[in-house]
Amino acid sequence: MAANSTVPSPEQALGFRVGADGRLAEWSQILDYFDRLQRTSPRIRVERIGETSLERPMIMAVISSPENLRRIEQIREGQAKLADPRGVPEREIERLIREQPAVAFIGASLHGNEIMATQMAMELAYILAIDPNLGRALENVVVLLVPGMNPDGLDITRDWWLRTRETEDAGAPMPWLYHHYVGHDNNRDFFMITQPETQAVTRVLYERWFPQVVWDVHQMGNRGARFFIPPFADPLNPNLEPLIVRMTNLVGVQMAADLTAAGKTGVSHQETFDLWWHGGGRTVPARHNMVGILSEAASANIGDPIYQEADSLRQPELGSMFPDPWPGGWWRPRDIVEYELIAGRSLVNLMSRQREQFVRNFVTLAEQQIRRGAAGGPFAYVVPPEQRDPGSAAELLRVLRRGGVEVDEAREPFTADGVSYPAGTRVVLMAQPFRAHAKDLLEVQRYPDRRQYPGGPPAPPYDLAGWTLPLQMGVELDEIEEPFATAVLVRLDSVAVRRGTVRGSDGALAFALDPRMNASHRAVHEVLQAGGQVNFATAPTREQGVTWPAGAPLVWGVADLRQRVDRWAREWGLDAVAMPGPPHEGITSLRVALYKPWTASMDEGWTRWIFEQWGVPFDTIADAQIRAGNLRQSYDAIVVPAITYRELVQGPDRAHADYAGGIGQPGTAALRQFVEGGGTLVLLDSSVEFAIRELGVRVRDVAAAQNATDPQRWFAPGSLLRVRWDASHPVAYGMPEEGAIFYARSPVLEVLPNARGVRVIARYPERDLLLSGYAQGEERIAGRAAAVEAEVGQGRVVMFAFRPQHRAQPQQTFKPLFNALYLR
Ligand SMILES: [Zn+2]
Repeated sequence: MAANSTVPSPEQALGFRVGADGRLAEWSQILDYFDRLQRTSPRIRVERIGETSLERPMIMAVISSPENLRRIEQIREGQAKLADPRGVPEREIERLIREQPAVAFIGASLHGNEIMATQMAMELAYILAIDPNLGRALENVVVLLVPGMNPDGLDITRDWWLRTRETEDAGAPMPWLYHHYVGHDNNRDFFMITQPETQAVTRVLYERWFPQVVWDVHQMGNRGARFFIPPFADPLNPNLEPLIVRMTNLVGVQMAADLTAAGKTGVSHQETFDLWWHGGGRTVPARHNMVGILSEAASANIGDPIYQEADSLRQPELGSMFPDPWPGGWWRPRDIVEYELIAGRSLVNLMSRQREQFVRNFVTLAEQQIRRGAAGGPFAYVVPPEQRDPGSAAELLRVLRRGGVEVDEAREPFTADGVSYPAGTRVVLMAQPFRAHAKDLLEVQRYPDRRQYPGGPPAPPYDLAGWTLPLQMGVELDEIEEPFATAVLVRLDSVAVRRGTVRGSDGALAFALDPRMNASHRAVHEVLQAGGQVNFATAPTREQGVTWPAGAPLVWGVADLRQRVDRWAREWGLDAVAMPGPPHEGITSLRVALYKPWTASMDEGWTRWIFEQWGVPFDTIADAQIRAGNLRQSYDAIVVPAITYRELVQGPDRAHADYAGGIGQPGTAALRQFVEGGGTLVLLDSSVEFAIRELGVRVRDVAAAQNATDPQRWFAPGSLLRVRWDASHPVAYGMPEEGAIFYARSPVLEVLPNARGVRVIARYPERDLLLSGYAQGEERIAGRAAAVEAEVGQGRVVMFAFRPQHRAQPQQTFKPLFNALYLR
């Protein structure tokens, strides 16, 4: 590596100082700068780690001493042994503890509008390259620096800022998401791992590098403290190892001490961000024995400064966790950069000074996890091969595999907790290093009952209270308490779906598909795409020895149907049976529109992503297309994601003129006309209010009707609730009698006595509503509806008073969402 030329500073490369008022580098400039760094510094190598949703390259700088970089592959292999010490000789572990550098991962600006860390990353890399003290520290530390966790979001935000900053729209919220599909929820994707950016980072963390510390560099609002770092807020998730919690506190407190020593004020701890949540950039590493650090700097105006009087702020109270409030004044982008650079230096110096502590504790944590798992309680989670939807069972295990969890398969029958399981049963043993991650996804969450003050309303979690994946995905699984003989188990590299069965003659012209399987919808969308036809059996299917509930999709009218059916069985595990002859009438096309509001709706983005992934053909329509009317000519179904009535009808509170006003009265009339003319309007979560207010549907939202100050009111923040499905209703075709829905402060529907043409699709039972998470006051909503269909004119509205597609997790309730698109 040529290293004789001078390392250019960011200022030399960019023509402005990092964090200068009104100046932000775009992604291509940052890529160029890192390329120049690796060509001039012997301490820096740059790797490409993936590609974004919008096809920008993602990079990672590997920064360490030249000696360490020369043996970097050996160091990487050492990390893998420390992360999973099973089978590694004790001597070898002790040698690694003596010789292995500590490894820190730093990820900048996951959230596009929290923009300064991507700028700061250039200067951090530069000082790591030239500073002599840091150079010595790097003999003991490897820094993995991802300068842009969301490069699309950087450019999207920067473009909007440049377009508006000197206009009257300066500071108006962006009308679209800063991640193409999932916006802010890219920091909720770290256990499902659906997006390419999350996948790239996940490979670095749990497949290639196994760092001891993961620092996720964010910004927050600017009405309070200037910089948040751990210790985190309560409650504590019981799956986190105490030593991880202690090490997290240690890093945060060290950063705070260094910030204070450098004269930086307003550094806070234990605010808002809790240790319950799973799924984020810092919380998933914490379940992989990695110290997960979050920092949140107060924001400026994107790249412009703001002036703030101290008495206009709500900083934490003076105390041991907040000894030095910020005095107020100008808050500049450069201030954010400086706080983050001090924190970065602090981290590298701490890990260098206490290298052995970080390395030794990392291997200790892995050993503790393995020991806890081997002791049982639980010992394993078992996924039997017999499933309503084997495709979802395989997908659940793939989600775990992507997160670094080991999955086994039994080659012979075995017995666990007194139950016999056949060969082919999949097993997730808890005696593995990433046990906490697997256990936390597979078990039921019991969020503690905490109050905002004694006798007051519940204190909600920072994010969700419950997320149990088998419940969300409709997968049967058994928790095994006691250890059993595991010799029959074989580790799986990848998780194949069990092959589906195709019954009936080769020459059949029509096939029925098992309605309980999500893949049946994938097949239906493919058939329509290929010019075929579909309809849905209104009675149970009894053919050639199979008995399926009502709702089996019948497909016909495409060439090579048999080959397709065989492929679906092989690739998706779909069961199919040949039918005597094609029916007379079928659906030949799906004409779906998905409404995209100018409020930058993540719910819209997730829905769009799921439709694309599952092959649902659709158009995106915005306010202008809805206001223009004549929707029935083009569409059979219109889907409105979760949005309040006000936002839908009036638009964003503050918007650029091109994006203001919502659908307005013309759009409201157009949607009514669409439904009355025979269309299907599908409303998700909060958008059900539109049907109550504008379409005359005789239901009432009993959750919204409660007294907001009643501390005993019905309340469930991001939890899984039990509902009973009416599987004879076409929207619930293929659903089990009882299942979980994802519910977060959503509406709850009561059908009014004089309602006509309203059918309940899913209903809360009389008791035991909570499946995972937290809820109080269930008696207030017992027996009420979670989903209804209402006739309006010649058409209908389907009201899902929950989020059937939330963050792409509750895959069991994708089916009713897809079913609703086929109502005629
Ligand atoms: Zn953030």
